[in-house]
Formats: sequence, C-alpha cells, structure tokens
Amino acid sequence: MFKALLLTKTDDAPLSAAVTDLDDDRLPAGDVLVQVASSTLNYKDALAITGKAPVVRSYPMVPGIDLAGMVVESSDQRYRPGDPVLLNGWGVGESHWGGLAQRARVKADWLLPLPGGMTPSQAMAIGTAGYTAMLCVMALQQNGVATDHGPVLVTGANGGVGSIAIALLSRLGFTVHAATGRPHEAEHLKALGASEVIDRSTLNAPGKPLQKERWAAAIDSVGSHTLVNVCAGIKYGGVVAACGLAQGMDFPGTVAPFILRGVTLAGVDSVMAPYARRAKAWDRLAREMPHDLLARNTETIGLADAPAVAARLLAGEVRGRVVVDVNA
Ligand code: NDP
Repeated sequence: MFKALLLTKTDDAPLSAAVTDLDDDRLPAGDVLVQVASSTLNYKDALAITGKAPVVRSYPMVPGIDLAGMVVESSDQRYRPGDPVLLNGWGVGESHWGGLAQRARVKADWLLPLPGGMTPSQAMAIGTAGYTAMLCVMALQQNGVATDHGPVLVTGANGGVGSIAIALLSRLGFTVHAATGRPHEAEHLKALGASEVIDRSTLNAPGKPLQKERWAAAIDSVGSHTLVNVCAGIKYGGVVAACGLAQGMDFPGTVAPFILRGVTLAGVDSVMAPYARRAKAWDRLAREMPHDLLARNTETIGLADAPAVAARLLAGEVRGRVVVDVNA
C-alpha cells in the first residue's frame, strides 16, 4: 500500500482531493516503478487539484507533474533498482498518474537521472517551474542575448518560474528587473538577484504598440496585456521568452515590436521538450542554481496540505516554490 493524493470526480459527485491508501496494482502501466521522495506544486498542479481549469483528462487521477525518487523495479535496461531519478511533464499528473504519491509507475523515456549532487528535495525545489525558467534562459542565450545588452525583465517575479529565472539570470551576470504585484516582497526579490522591482500594474493594462525601449530581453510567465507591453518595451533586436499565462492566455497586441524593432518572441514549452534539451537544462541547473537561494525560495508541505496550498498558489499568495514531502 502507498499514500496518494487522489482526485475523484463523477457525473454525480463534484471534484474531491483526498489522501488515500492505494495498492501498487492500481498504478498505471509503465516500465519503471519509482518510490517517490518529493514532488512539488506548480501552477498546473494547483489548477488540477482545485479544478479551476480542465488540466486533468480522466478521473480518478493522482496529480503532480513532477517527481523525484528512487527506482524500485525496472524492465528497461537504462534504469536499475536504487537509481535516483527525476521526472517533469510528459502529461504525468494530467493523463497518467503523477508525483503527488509515494509511488509512481512511469515510462522509462520520461525519466532523467537525478543530477549528481542534487537531493530529491532540491530537484523538486526547482521542479517544472525552475526547469522552465532554465529553458527560458537558454532561449534568450540561443537568440544572442548577452549581459552587456541591457537589463532583462522577469514578470511574475514572486512565482515559481519568475523567482528562479531571477536567480539564474543574476548568477549569469545579467542586470535583472522584476515585475511583481507584491512590492512588499522587494527585499526577497533583491536577495534573489533583482536590481530593480517594478509594479506589475504598470504592465497589465492595454498600452501603446511601441513604448520606450527599456529591456534587452524578458522572461514572461504572465501572458495577456503584460506580454504585449513587455514586447512593446524591448530594445531593438531584443528577445522575449514566453512560457506562461498567469494573467491570461490571450495576446491582445500588434506586430509592431516584431516588424519595426526586430524583436523575437521565443515560445517555451517544458512538457514535451525533447530529452536532450531537458538533460542540458538539468545539467545547467545542477551547476548554476545556488542551493542557498533555492532553500530561501522554498516552503515544504505534506501531501495532506496540498489542496489548501494549491488554493493559496492560485490566489497569488505563495512566494517562490513549494516542495511536497510525500512521506510527511
Ligand atoms: P506561480 O503561481 O508560482 O507564479 C505566477 C506568478 O504570476 C504569481 O506569483 C504572480 O507573481 C504573477 N501573477 C499571478 N496572477 C497574475 C495576474 N493576474 N497578472 C499579472 N501577474 C500575475 O506559477 P508558476 O511560476 O509555476 O507558473 C507561471 C506560469 O507559467 C503559469 O501560467 C504556468 O502555467 C506557466 N508554466 C508554463 C510552463 C511551460 O511549459 N510553458 C511550465 C511551467 C509553468 P507576483 O505576485 O510577483 O506578481
């Protein structure tokens, strides 16, 4: 038996999320059985647990798009019992039972070896949010953004993606500006590496198609008017990595920044990113994400706390990252 956060919903009963004891034979098919040590709460997990958006494809479902733990059984020659592993995305926690459980059975193709020197809890303090932040940093660098081009803006600064993006960019030597709706967290954002904190209300309403050229690049996890205004304020030839929709999925803008200033809008997806890109992102995270900042940016909860914390996360009340100790 193992414990899992089980989401159930039927035609007769509304969505419920409860810690439940399950048998191993309830687990879905897969090549590798993993003893999960830690999982996380990302924005998407919060949507799944609260039912605020149709993330879950079928019920019952164990949510959790991330997990880290140890292989128990494997029919794939790449993994052996005792190997420390990590998983992000691939529809896990959406269409295949996920990480908010003490056990998971998954496809070997979805796993990565846990990077050397990283504990499961540290990997989950990064999680999909931090791995996506690294994919965004990589997108900026692949498009030629360099530290001497000017400041880089990070939106959704106190969120999971935003907070880790600030730390990574600052560590690489970029000047980082952070846009937030929580100016009272300015000291935390500066400790992560932001040099300037701006109020997100200056970005989240309709604005002019072209605005003052303020930033060489940006990492945006917010979408909607914010993304439009960010593009309108990027310097000639700059780059915006867009990965999120915390304000909205719409993009109510014009092509002016792209055709008059040569701005590049680089889309970033973590869920189906190919193995080589994931492995590179995690290798860089292991080397470049300072452990002390990670600890300062993370709260740890138990499985039973997940529903309440998911509601707080969607209300914008969680700062940084949440690790779920599935054995607590
Ligand atoms: P969090 O909830 O941790 O962070 C989101 C942050 O966005 C909040 O903390 C808040 O920051 C800001 N925000 C929230 N609501 C609004 C609003 N209405 N207007 C402007 N800003 C707002 O989520 P994550 O960091 O985990 O994820 C962020 C986004 O990225 C989500 O949309 C998520 O779905 C997406 N995502 C996409 C991935 C991909 O593969 N493309 C992977 C991971 C995440 P503050 O309080 O500082 O203003």
